[in-house]
Amino acid sequence: MKIKCPDCSKPAELADDFSFVKCEYCLIDMTYGEYVKYIAYKDSRYRDILSDYK
Ligand SMILES: [Zn+2]
Repeated sequence: MKIKCPDCSKPAELADDFSFVKCEYCLIDMTYGEYVKYIAYKDSRYRDILSDYK
């Protein structure tokens, strides 16, 4: 599915099984766990989204 890239705010790809996040614009390639930590650190507005996946 498409999610918002935490770096460039363009559409990034989240694997259906949540195994990875990739952005073709700024070349982010990380696991979903890393992504969660990254965006939680970067922007507290994302915490509402994260609570859906606990
Ligand atoms: Zn990006």
